[in-house]
Amino acid sequence: MFEYIYFARPDSVLEGLPVYNVRKEIGRELANESGVEADVVVPVPDSGVPSAIGYAEASGIPFELGIIRNHYVGRTFIEPTDQIRHLGVKMKHSPNRPILDGKRVVLVDDSIVRGTTSRKIVDMVRAAGAREVHMRISSPPTKHSCFYGIDTPERSKLLAAQNDLKKMAELIGVDSLAFISLDGLYRAMGHESRSASRSTYCDACFTGEYPIALVDHDAEYGPGAA
Ligand code: SF4
Repeated sequence: MFEYIYFARPDSVLEGLPVYNVRKEIGRELANESGVEADVVVPVPDSGVPSAIGYAEASGIPFELGIIRNHYVGRTFIEPTDQIRHLGVKMKHSPNRPILDGKRVVLVDDSIVRGTTSRKIVDMVRAAGAREVHMRISSPPTKHSCFYGIDTPERSKLLAAQNDLKKMAELIGVDSLAFISLDGLYRAMGHESRSASRSTYCDACFTGEYPIALVDHDAEYGPGAA
């Protein structure tokens, strides 16, 4: 599922589904599920852009580039150490103050993994004068690690595995926080719901239902695990 949310290039077509369209639909679903009164919809660039466009279209709140991306540094969540990650965020995004100052901002991002990046971005947006920050996430909460090749941290480091929504909002420093629902995500991909989809997508990092047995992790996820 993360290919549609984050990994695939936005101009990809996966199994006949244009990734850009799916991301926009996710934004529309998010606006319908978790609307809020605000002045601007601002993506965390680049991966939050299509969903923010969808959110803005569905909500009628103007889309603005309130954060500008520096294109010369890598993706932060796969950087190895906290120190490098912090530095990465600082160099990677700059606030567009005239867009943010005095505004109630809906901030759209693709995921929250550790929460480190989100906290930095929210602090930056507030420091640029935003009056309110409402974060909307175009994936369901990432509560489980990936064991199929994506470098997500262990569960103890996943913000959503350790905290409820209220606590996460507090830790990230936002006025409100919402994630797309699992069914909303499947709807954005053209299915009625997850249970009706009969798809073979992996969504284990949201559900903990691993489609291929994790023989190395039976205590946590294997037969009979809690
Ligand atoms: S657990 Fe599944 S959906 Fe999540 S990143 Fe890994 S392969 Fe993708």
